[in-house]
Amino acid sequence: MTRLAAVIGSPVAHSLSPVIHRAAFDAAGVDWTYAALEVAPGNASAALDAMRTLGIGGLSVTMPHKDAVAAAVDRLDPAARALHSVNTVSWEGDQLVGWSTDGAGFVASLAEAGVDVDGAKVAVIGAGGAARSVIDALARAGAVDVTVLNRTPEKAESAAALTPVATPGIISDIGRADIVVNATSVGMGTDGSLPCDPDLLHDGQVVADLVYHPLETRWLSAAAERGARTVDGLGMLVHQAALQQRIWLGDDAVVDTAVMRAAALAALTSRG
Ligand code: NAP
Repeated sequence: MTRLAAVIGSPVAHSLSPVIHRAAFDAAGVDWTYAALEVAPGNASAALDAMRTLGIGGLSVTMPHKDAVAAAVDRLDPAARALHSVNTVSWEGDQLVGWSTDGAGFVASLAEAGVDVDGAKVAVIGAGGAARSVIDALARAGAVDVTVLNRTPEKAESAAALTPVATPGIISDIGRADIVVNATSVGMGTDGSLPCDPDLLHDGQVVADLVYHPLETRWLSAAAERGARTVDGLGMLVHQAALQQRIWLGDDAVVDTAVMRAAALAALTSRG
């Protein structure tokens, strides 16, 4: 019998998750399909009830439900527990388990680009939900120093409190970092602004962006012009989804991230 996985969110119409997951299911030849389900704010717990009733095999969770799902599942993985945020739900026996794969997906995208986080000094610009998952995962992957810079300093302090290796940063930390991450929404879509002065960036650094639309943001172009290696945001999107598939289908599942990335790129191109 075909198994169903789904993304829940509000709004969910523009989610790339269906495109990415269906491409991977098709490539692997598994009997799974994937739907996008609009779930109104406040109905996350009802969506989990529906998952139980309908036997849905797995859920991806987007805004605004990540916190509410974390409160409603039976058990949390360590990252989801630290973040109080869930982007993935799976079954373990008759229990629902909540996971957070965004940060690990980011670290996997760096690894794919040949960048080892173990022992690295990282500057993260931004302190929202995506930044928090990245900070948590960087610490789990062995980063020795994570500085957090944000427009609203109180949120930088809160994000830095996630792990002992993180501290609220100052602007000069950007020049001292091995890896610099834009985890703000600055540069998304037609916004051509930059998260900080790009003259702080230099040769020998790795500069990453979580924004993936456009794929080559002004931030990444400016970093490349100054000799830094760049890592785009689509890798994180693809790898967090690949981790979801391994959670749902099992560790030995065949998950083709190249197929997933190509499907996401085609969808982004067709959307303009
Ligand atoms: P969020 O929770 O709303 O946080 C937004 C962050 O951006 C906050 O730190 C905010 O600062 C900062 N910000 C927004 N506008 C700014 C401005 N004009 N100047 C300076 N800082 C500004 O959003 P999120 O969920 O963390 O997402 C952040 C970005 O990551 C988005 O572009 C999202 O699309 C992307 N993302 C990518 C992936 C992926 O897989 N590649 C996954 C998740 C998210 P304040 O705290 O001061 O408001």
